[in-house]
Amino acid sequence: MNTHCPFCGISAGEDPADIVYQDADVIAFRDIHPKAPTHILIIPRKHIPSVAQAGAIDAAVLGKLMLTSAKVAEMEGLDGAFRLVTNAGARAGQSVFHLHVHLLGGRAMGWPPG
Ligand code: 5GP
Ligand code: ZN
Repeated sequence: MNTHCPFCGISAGEDPADIVYQDADVIAFRDIHPKAPTHILIIPRKHIPSVAQAGAIDAAVLGKLMLTSAKVAEMEGLDGAFRLVTNAGARAGQSVFHLHVHLLGGRAMGWPPG
């Protein structure tokens, strides 16, 4: 637990969030500033700053993040059409330094992203 990390606070139940799924390893909650009709963040409970700092020991939870993202997309009725994004590093747009996958859906998406 990193006490200065907002997502550790949500994982610990110390800070409020609109949680849509959780288990022993991961937690999914709605983004506070949604960029799409569905915008959910899926995080490991373990504090990993970004995927760039993940190691081989984290392989199982990284896989679980992907599988949970797809499960939540189905729960949200996205019908197999959604985008998963993880920003690594401030230059790539990361602003919260606890690994998270953005699940975005409910509208058409452009490519490439900005
Ligand atoms: P990043 O920019 O690091 O890829 O994404 C961080 C995301 O977390 C942003 O989309 C931002 O709106 C969201 N966010 C930041 N603080 C909070 C918070 O306290 N609660 C929730 N639900 N979302 C947050
Ligand atoms: Zn954290």
